[in-house]
Amino acid sequence: MANRGGATRPNGPNAANKICQFKLVLLGESAVGKSSLVLRFVKGQFHEFQESTIGVCLDDTTERYHSLAPMYYRGAQAAIVVYDITNEESFVRAKNWVKELQRQASPNIVIALAGNKADLANKRTLDFQDAQSYADDNSLLFMETSAKTSMNVNEIFMAIAKKLPKSEPQAGGANSGRNRGVDLTETAQPAGRTCCST
Ligand code: GDP
Ligand code: MG
Repeated sequence: MANRGGATRPNGPNAANKICQFKLVLLGESAVGKSSLVLRFVKGQFHEFQESTIGVCLDDTTERYHSLAPMYYRGAQAAIVVYDITNEESFVRAKNWVKELQRQASPNIVIALAGNKADLANKRTLDFQDAQSYADDNSLLFMETSAKTSMNVNEIFMAIAKKLPKSEPQAGGANSGRNRGVDLTETAQPAGRTCCST
């Protein structure tokens, strides 16, 4: 997907260090905050009324486009699977994404689980420790995040970066030459294609 929700972050003209490019995808139920996490990380912004992929046709749409998902995560070296700590269904969905990635994505893919909307503590329905245990059992990075307050947003991207291999040339998707710097690809609800978004 063409640099969905993404932008470039210049690494500085004289960066002596080698610049590594990786393909990162964001997966998760609609409205958990995928676009918002990207916007926060890349531009330092948050939009309370971020135009969302949420809508009455959500389930239909999700299913209709699910078959396309492998195209998006193919060649990805990293994935952030996002759920919303106030939405139990989104955690079930996140676990399904993790399973799918473990089965079908690149074998060495770095997977992080993000429990987003951590600022909505009074609406929390998902326990931190349960998610941590699940993440530990599945060798996932795990953080609770908030695109709104920016809590752990840089941290989760940086934790992923630390786990990515630094030496070997990257195979596949990331090195198209089209994007420099941060190439953030987001899926689950492909851009502008849901029946309910404009
Ligand atoms: P996506 O469908 O997963 O890309 O979700 P969006 O990024 O479009 O976010 C859906 C809605 O949740 C928007 O109204 C956002 O403003 C809101 N949102 C996203 N992240 C957070 C967060 O960390 N905290 C709160 N309170 N709201 C958030
Ligand atoms: Mg979105």
